[in-house]
Amino acid sequence: MPTRSQRSALYKSHPELILNLGSCLAVLAIVAIVSFLLIRERSNVEQSAVRSASNIVQLIESDIVRNVELYDLSLRGLIWAVQQPQLRSMPPELRQQIIFNQAFTTPVRGDMLWLDAHGDVAADSTSVIPRQANFADSKVFQAHRQNKDLGLVISPPFKARLGNLDWCISFTRRINDADGEFAGVAAGALRLSYFNELFKRLDIGSESSINLMNTDGVLLARQSTTAEDPLIGANFADRPNFKRLLADGSGSFAAISGRTGKPRLLTFAKVADLPLIVIVARSSDEVFDSWRRTAILVGCATGVLCIGILWLTLLLGRELRRRHSAEQDLAALAATDSLTGLANRRQLDQVLRREWSRTQRNQRPMAVLMVDVDHFKAFNERHGHQGGDQALRAVAAAIGRSIRRPADLAARYGGEEFLVVLPETERRGAQNLAERIRSSIEALPPYADDKQPVTVSIGVGCFTPGTQQDLAALLGSADDALYRAKRNGRNRVETAA
Ligand code: GH3
Ligand code: MG
Ligand code: MG
Repeated sequence: MPTRSQRSALYKSHPELILNLGSCLAVLAIVAIVSFLLIRERSNVEQSAVRSASNIVQLIESDIVRNVELYDLSLRGLIWAVQQPQLRSMPPELRQQIIFNQAFTTPVRGDMLWLDAHGDVAADSTSVIPRQANFADSKVFQAHRQNKDLGLVISPPFKARLGNLDWCISFTRRINDADGEFAGVAAGALRLSYFNELFKRLDIGSESSINLMNTDGVLLARQSTTAEDPLIGANFADRPNFKRLLADGSGSFAAISGRTGKPRLLTFAKVADLPLIVIVARSSDEVFDSWRRTAILVGCATGVLCIGILWLTLLLGRELRRRHSAEQDLAALAATDSLTGLANRRQLDQVLRREWSRTQRNQRPMAVLMVDVDHFKAFNERHGHQGGDQALRAVAAAIGRSIRRPADLAARYGGEEFLVVLPETERRGAQNLAERIRSSIEALPPYADDKQPVTVSIGVGCFTPGTQQDLAALLGSADDALYRAKRNGRNRVETAA
């Protein structure tokens, strides 16, 4: 964990980095929050679609259960009636009334037949004189003949042999005689168009559908399709979606339609304990249409916002960089002597203090050179102050060229005096450098053909580790050495004792 001062140092050294990092994090957070909200909204939309589909499924389920109960009651009534010995002696109209439930003989749903043991129609709910047909070859008939205990059988869909040739499913029960032997079959047919009417009344959207299938995978009825639709009677047993909903029993899942290839939201339930399944297939496009529009709008707005943030960050970063370099320029300017371009007195004081304490801490040597131009008053009198200024610049440049180490510093001390700070430098090295400065200045080309060259006197002050000395004493010793150099004839180097 960085400390507070480390953090502020980091900020000072990398303000742009912090800015960029901050706004990238902000952008990431915005994107994450918006994505989270959109995903949650999508799942809400899906949940409510599933809820409404479940309601439809339940509605249809209860309607089918009621119908099946009605058929079963009628079949039981028929069986009871045909087992009564008095029935044969009754007039045909009365017999018809007793065999077929009055409430039932509405041809909208379908008709009922009493088949005798040979499969012939013995009585027909649609007419007192039964239509002529034989059902001995029917699979359901044969199944009832062979098995006592089938109970109510619901058939796969078929095209009716009698009547208007609609798609139907049949409900059948075996009729036993007094000895429990096979005596025929009571059959009721339900026209599947009945379900189409029921489904049509439920509004679920143009691209969605309501389907009724049996557990063998045969499509029995479908909303928005006519009874002649080739899909009725089609077998979906091999489709993975059907296998899954058969295994699940009831529930909901998203799937790709095997027929159209479009995404669908399937909600389904088995009808009570009957071999029937109701499936509401809602088009995902339709369900998520409004959500998708919202998502596009919110996504675009978020994108614009994020781009705006990044763009502002870029501008701000550029401005920061500009300010940073302006500050650096200002700082350099504040530390520089305007005439000579060397460090000024302020900078010199800072560096002196810093290097002195480093020297003390590490017990290393340090030297200073006090440089003073000889007879400069006279030079000024000969060439004027402008000439003097030019000579000072030439001297400063020569001093600047002479020092090589990065830690060394040449500064203007004041007037025509300069100070050179030499950390980690021993007496010998300092004397050599002083001599190099002196001779390089002596070798400068004369100003305006002056007979007298510009020269300097240099006093060398040294600090040797282990001796008792302070900074003022070090400077004082260099000053003393300088005056010794002046006294001893100028244009020379003298070193403090
Ligand atoms: P000495 O050899 O003993 O050092 O003699 P000097 O004439 O150099 O000594 P002094 O200190 O008496 O004179 C320094 C002169 O330097 C005084 C001033 O006219 C001149 N001077 C100081 N600063 C500047 C400056 O910035 N520009 C110019 N042109 N002259 C300066
Ligand atoms: Mg002077
Ligand atoms: Mg002087």
